[in-house]
Amino acid sequence: MSQSAAGAAPAGAAPAVVPILEVQGVTLQYKTKEHLITATYRVDFSVYPADRFVLLGPSGCGKSTLLKGVAGFMRPVEGEMRLKGRRIVAPGPDRVMVFQEFDQLLPWKTVRQNITFALRNGGRCSRESDADEIAMDYIRKVKLTGFENTFPHMLSGGMKQRVAIARGMAMEPDILLMDEPFAALDALTRRQMQEELLGLWDDTRFTVLFVTHSIEEALLVGSRILVLSPHPGQVKAELNANQHSHANLGSPEFIALQARIHDMLFADRVLEDEIARRG
Ligand code: ADP
Ligand code: MG
Repeated sequence: MSQSAAGAAPAGAAPAVVPILEVQGVTLQYKTKEHLITATYRVDFSVYPADRFVLLGPSGCGKSTLLKGVAGFMRPVEGEMRLKGRRIVAPGPDRVMVFQEFDQLLPWKTVRQNITFALRNGGRCSRESDADEIAMDYIRKVKLTGFENTFPHMLSGGMKQRVAIARGMAMEPDILLMDEPFAALDALTRRQMQEELLGLWDDTRFTVLFVTHSIEEALLVGSRILVLSPHPGQVKAELNANQHSHANLGSPEFIALQARIHDMLFADRVLEDEIARRG
């Protein structure tokens, strides 16, 4: 059973705070010709304003599927998801996704145009000049001033991810959905991007639902962490990670929580191996 109760305020928060996102008893399935694949099973969690809420679990446990559900691309077979109290039934500009892949930008548009295009199509701006102003502001925030007229193929992987983040944030969604956005970056760039994301969060206190399979990244980026079991993803625990950051990386407390989460995830693997051995 999860350590949190859906709909309850997190420890230490004022009870009057209303969640932005509520996920209650959500089972998500894929139907193929031959198989019915249950990706997540009766998952519960609530995301509150300015949470950096992390979905953590091994590959294949249904993290991306949960994001697809929140984004409105998939409907649960049981349970429901609500954004600001309204049932999620379709995609909308109130939820913006940032992916792992570096090719999520439009290659025929410049950095600035990638952002203004999203702003105008998402309905945030009707005038190009307004969109331009917002785009330039977010380009500055992600430290890409000087690259506004550059096309994506001229940028490094890290720079492309910065553009995707700038575009997502410029839309000012109720919740930013990030699916392993730094997983394909080299270790140093990844660390830098994690720090920059936290810097941006310090500035604007956006709400983010962040997916990773890295325990370390979950502790660095997250304020709260939902630990999911392997396939099908079920909630194992919800943990507070607010006290952890790059500043205490490697400290006894950091390592202890890392080990605790590792044990939670590993316990399943031991059990699975046992079941496999017995046939
Ligand atoms: P994660 O993001 O945690 O690695 P996913 O959400 O991508 O996991 O996948 C969860 C499960 O659903 C896996 O077993 C995966 O094989 C399956 N799955 C994902 N996408 C599809 C799809 N389009 N069709 C069928 N099965 C899928
Ligand atoms: Mg995934």
